[in-house]
Amino acid sequence: MNRKLYDKLIFELSRPGRHGADLPSYNYSHSACTLPEGLLRETAPELPEVDEPTVVRHYTNSSTNNFGVDTGFYPLGSCTMKYNPKVDEAAVADAAVENLHPAQPADSVQGALKIYRTLEKALAEVGGMAEFSLNPFAGAHGEYTGLMVIRRYFLGKGDETRTRVLVPDSAHGTNPASAAMAGFEVVEVKSLADGTVDIDDLAGKLDSTVAALMMTNPNTVGMFEKGIPQIASLVHDAGALLYYDGANLNPMLGIARPGDMGFDVMHINLHKTFATPHGGGGPGAGPVGVRAGLEQYLPNPRVVEDAEGKLTVECGNEAFGRVSSWLGNYTVYIKALAYILTMGAEGLAWVGPLATLNANYVKESLKDLYLLPIDGPCKHEFVFDGLIDKSGGVTTLNVAKRLLDYGFHAPTIYFPLLFHESLMVEPTETESPETLDAFIEAMRAIAHEAKENPEFVKNAPYDTPVSHPDEDKAALEPCLTYAELMEPR
Ligand SMILES: *Cc1c(COP(=O)(O)O)cnc(C)c1O
Repeated sequence: MNRKLYDKLIFELSRPGRHGADLPSYNYSHSACTLPEGLLRETAPELPEVDEPTVVRHYTNSSTNNFGVDTGFYPLGSCTMKYNPKVDEAAVADAAVENLHPAQPADSVQGALKIYRTLEKALAEVGGMAEFSLNPFAGAHGEYTGLMVIRRYFLGKGDETRTRVLVPDSAHGTNPASAAMAGFEVVEVKSLADGTVDIDDLAGKLDSTVAALMMTNPNTVGMFEKGIPQIASLVHDAGALLYYDGANLNPMLGIARPGDMGFDVMHINLHKTFATPHGGGGPGAGPVGVRAGLEQYLPNPRVVEDAEGKLTVECGNEAFGRVSSWLGNYTVYIKALAYILTMGAEGLAWVGPLATLNANYVKESLKDLYLLPIDGPCKHEFVFDGLIDKSGGVTTLNVAKRLLDYGFHAPTIYFPLLFHESLMVEPTETESPETLDAFIEAMRAIAHEAKENPEFVKNAPYDTPVSHPDEDKAALEPCLTYAELMEPR
């Protein structure tokens, strides 16, 4: 592998004794240290020894080695890689926030608890729910929490027969996984050709053993489930509860509320809808909301407000337990609240229409070249089933990799599982017409390349630090250390 100087690891650039800072000498004695002697290390850590320009180049180059929303258009459907206003980051980068400790007495952190409580109330308003808990760390964690609330609710009523959870076949994989983690048996509900839930199939599966139906609306193919009122009454008549996976809440903000549609329990992915960058798997938060009558089952600890507005952190007896040691991923809440307050109710209600307009614009501009299995107006995202002309053998994976050469991150590929060549595009509400047009142009150019020179597209990308790894070999013989990478077997 031919590597440029600063492609090397910082450890390879290290030279003994080289440094970029002169610190004043400091009279330090071990006796001043409160750590027990047995825990002190005997040798200094092997840190890289480099000059200042090398350190700066290391971090600057590393920060641009990967693709991010700050470097280009990132239409990753279902994950919602949207633009997160920098003002929300500024709100978190405050010493008053950085120095908070979760074990501080409630008296000394009234402001922080007020932020927690204010966000809970704002989310309850957005979701049409009675009460929220912010504690879960992600969407999947929220699903698990919500299902545990449902489990606790039925056990509280002495009903031990409800052991099954219904999940549509279009659902995100976390839905069946969370239901199984919460101790339920998972039963799949079929979709119709238009991607919405097959209500006849659902009705046939509802009985007194069902605890809940999990729904995503708009669903994972970006279609609005119009049958929710009918579904809600079927589910409730069977004595079960209706769970709302809020990962696709974006187009509904300020326009429609899950609580008003008959959902009993829901989660919101703050990192998808409310301003937290979540590349690389974190940080996130998956607050859970419940309708009136289920509040007492939400996880401990809770932030409780007395008549004078004084806030305390308390644990209730009826909660199903805890999902976090403290109050969850606190900095994510500050960003979410800053986003909600700066947007205001009016601004939030613009998110959905703009996201929907952008998605439909991209879809209509490409559907003569890419196969659209479910036609008609979509919400904030839509799914192609690969190219229409598949004669050259160019797959969705090839298109996704070729897009990188055009400077765009790929859409989500091979999800949802309903189609063989799924390519799921979510442009989000904040992209300019120029960006959308450039993306459309790139997608069209790739479709033409796929016809004229399919081998060229199959070998893409050409302009990235890593171009075309052997996917099968990577899975069968993973290189997990730097040494292995440099000296391939
Ligand atoms: C992202 C997503 C989830 C899981 O959320 P995480 O925050 O990634 O755990 C669940 N359902 C749908 C539809 C999603 O898009």
